[in-house]
Amino acid sequence: MDIFVILEDNHGSVHKMSIEAIVAAQSLNGSISAIVIGENHKDLASEVSSFNLKEILTVNNSLVESYSADGYTEVLHHIINQKKPDLIICGHTYQTRDYIPRLSARNDIPFIPDVIEIKDNLYIKQVLNSKLNASCSSDSGTLIISVQSAAFNGEDIEEGTPLINPFEIQINSEKVRSTSETPFIEDAGDIDLESADILVSIGRGIEKKENLQIGFDLAKTLGAEVSASRPVVDAGWLESYRQVGSSGASVSPKLYLALGISGAIQHVVGMKGSKFILAINKDPDSPLFEISDYAIIGDVLEIVPKLNQALQDL
Ligand SMILES: Cc1cc2nc3c(=O)[nH]c(=O)nc-3n(C[C@H](O)[C@H](O)[C@H](O)COP(=O)(O)OP(=O)(O)OC[C@H]3O[C@@H](n4cnc5c(N)ncnc54)[C@H](O)[C@@H]3O)c2cc1C
Repeated sequence: MDIFVILEDNHGSVHKMSIEAIVAAQSLNGSISAIVIGENHKDLASEVSSFNLKEILTVNNSLVESYSADGYTEVLHHIINQKKPDLIICGHTYQTRDYIPRLSARNDIPFIPDVIEIKDNLYIKQVLNSKLNASCSSDSGTLIISVQSAAFNGEDIEEGTPLINPFEIQINSEKVRSTSETPFIEDAGDIDLESADILVSIGRGIEKKENLQIGFDLAKTLGAEVSASRPVVDAGWLESYRQVGSSGASVSPKLYLALGISGAIQHVVGMKGSKFILAINKDPDSPLFEISDYAIIGDVLEIVPKLNQALQDL
């Protein structure tokens, strides 16, 4: 099986979810080509040059120096027509969601988005707000899938020595009519959630802004950073750069302590790659307990100060 993985340029580096897409490809029995497009193609190719891939195809063309939906569609349309891969994999990022449906329609190839597992030629994805898993298959000669954040672990990457092959392409400039503005960079504040070993994450269960201090006190004792679910940010209680989830940061700390967070899918996609998850919630049926390693059923306002004191007394 010939598998192509489309790598995303994330401010000059390979997007974390593109590495996870390579791991997804490596879990299948096939020969893998990675595709890098744009002005940073050399840096991106070099970043994956020690991975177990057959080749890295680099595309360098003035019309696709930076991302545009029609430019990327045009390039990939040609690559697919010429190379005829069986499977194309990418991370389920905002960029993917922008141009892959267009590519799917242009090449008449089915697209299965947001896949969490690949098993026996079946592509598993969550449906109905993650209440059910659907197994999808395709009898089309070529298929595109995107993989959900943290469904595959970037640390499982296999090493190798791929060839780096430039892919020469003539693009009709009339097909590339849009240009993108400078990529948006979120204000990261002075904290780095993505590289934190421990996160104390605060949800709506904290009840009011005045109660946030118990989360910060626990974080200080543990040497952790403080993150949050979206309602806490929307309420203006914490800065937006602390938000974890589909519209916030994707984190994978060694320990994720969730204080009063229910476990909505939009939150879970941003933190399920955490090594250990400890959730405190007064609702025993909280969906987050289903993916937690440790569950404490009770009131965060009562438990967190006691836990903090106990840790300080150690
Ligand atoms: C397009 C879109 C994007 C989104 N993006 C994100 C995102 O990036 N990140 C995100 O987090 N959400 C996101 N959301 C919102 C998401 O759907 C949920 O609404 C949100 O995650 C819920 O946050 P929460 O768990 O803190 O609050 P709730 O769902 O209200 O849960 C609060 C939890 O606290 C518990 N609780 C209450 N009081 C206590 C107490 N005293 N002690 C212990 N437990 C208590 C409750 O039992 C409950 O389980 C998005 C939604 C949409 C539609």
